[in-house]
Amino acid sequence: MKILQEAQKIDGVKICRSETEIVCSNCQDPVSEQEQASGTCTNCGEPWQPKQSVSVWATSVPKAGAKTWGQL
Ligand SMILES: [Zn+2]
Repeated sequence: MKILQEAQKIDGVKICRSETEIVCSNCQDPVSEQEQASGTCTNCGEPWQPKQSVSVWATSVPKAGAKTWGQL
């Protein structure tokens, strides 16, 4: 499950576009809305604990090792 923060300007301060993904702290698998509702990670079978993974686009060049989002 990811929360997208679009770039914006608040009080003259530019906020970079960023993406916060909630992942399982046990296996690092992204937590889907369904898993968030059930509280159990379907990847490792453990009750997932929230761990936020933040991606920030500072440049247009993708980072090495970047995940492909949207795969379930
Ligand atoms: Zn897991």
